[in-house]
Amino acid sequence: MKIVTTPDEIQSIALAKRRQGQTIGLVPTMGYFHEGHLALMREARRRADCVITTLFVNPMQFGPTEDLDNYPHNFGRDTALAESVGVDFLYAPTNAAMYNDEFSSTVHVEGLTSGLCGAARLGHFDGVTTVVAKLFNQTLPHIAVFGQKDFQQLAVIRRMTSDLDFPIEIIAHPIVREESGLAMSSRNTYLKEEEMGAALSLSQAIAGAKAIAANPSSTSNTIKKNVRELIEKHAECTIDYVEIVNALSLEPCDTIDADSIILLAVKINKRIRLIDNSLLLDT
Ligand code: AMP
Repeated sequence: MKIVTTPDEIQSIALAKRRQGQTIGLVPTMGYFHEGHLALMREARRRADCVITTLFVNPMQFGPTEDLDNYPHNFGRDTALAESVGVDFLYAPTNAAMYNDEFSSTVHVEGLTSGLCGAARLGHFDGVTTVVAKLFNQTLPHIAVFGQKDFQQLAVIRRMTSDLDFPIEIIAHPIVREESGLAMSSRNTYLKEEEMGAALSLSQAIAGAKAIAANPSSTSNTIKKNVRELIEKHAECTIDYVEIVNALSLEPCDTIDADSIILLAVKINKRIRLIDNSLLLDT
């Protein structure tokens, strides 16, 4: 596996691979790899001749009071893990290489970005779409793999890819969980032992929501109320949002159907923001 740090070099590599007739699979990440990231890389490995994983903690998608400065990192470990799943290029540009002093462009997706994490983290999705558009242009992939853990992000990126005519197939990978049910996240490393019960309440509340949703007479309001009650039993938890929306439009839905998805964002002890989601009806 080769490590690349500049946009020019990764783009020349991508152009050369394309000229050789190879397909390129991209997995954008912010590093501190766990099994969720590795599953995405394996998926790209299965689908493309050449796999590029990007590791860039994008300052543009963090708010002023968020955890940019202490976002977890371990480049040596990440390098070994990416190599172990067959990644060909680990592309880790510096901030200066991505955003020079004159940088002044933003990619903005309307609508899908206004609720959920977009309402709680102002400007976050502009940062995401801008950096992903740049990474698409730098790495010229045929496919790009994203996790359903960041469900709204996936929807926004699909919209951007279609709106801006990127000739890239977006692949969604299901959420990878710990045995306990906790959705894997780089931020889980911040959790203290005594905060685990609170962190687990997200996946437990989702399991409860699915059990209620299996009853055809259940409504969004009853399900959301039950979820809030379960999570708020843990004094460490502050709910950012509990929403049930249509998985395509991200518009709130009152009644439950096959496209209804529950999405949660919860802060643990005001320090660690966790998200989780699931379709409510098993198909
Ligand atoms: P991040 O490094 O957190 O920006 O995540 C990079 C990619 O990995 C995104 O597409 C995430 O949705 C995906 N991802 C993160 N955690 C998980 C998980 N537990 N299961 C599946 N995908 C994940």
